[in-house]
Amino acid sequence: MLLLGRHHTYVGSIPLSEHSCNNCCNPGQMQMSFYASYAHIVQIPLFSIGQKAIAQCKNCQEILEENYFPQDLTEIQHEISSKITVPPLHFIGIGIMVVILLCFALFY
Ligand SMILES: [Zn+2]
Repeated sequence: MLLLGRHHTYVGSIPLSEHSCNNCCNPGQMQMSFYASYAHIVQIPLFSIGQKAIAQCKNCQEILEENYFPQDLTEIQHEISSKITVPPLHFIGIGIMVVILLCFALFY
């Protein structure tokens, strides 16, 4: 078990029906999946550290990382990423720290 680290949680997917797979050339089999990243201490989420997107072919399972997206996929990624909200659970560690600090401030 890691004390400090980084995790990703699945946020959602959209079909990329107008794109063909670069590997198997099947049209309509691509989808873009979004993941939200967070830093954690002892598996307790502290704060959000961004989002990540991948494009995957449902036919051959080929995965395209966002660093290798062509221009049109990058535009789709930016459009969808701006609409995605980070799960509030990713900030629960900060909430716990604030409560602990308030308890110390009030009772000591
Ligand atoms: Zn494919």
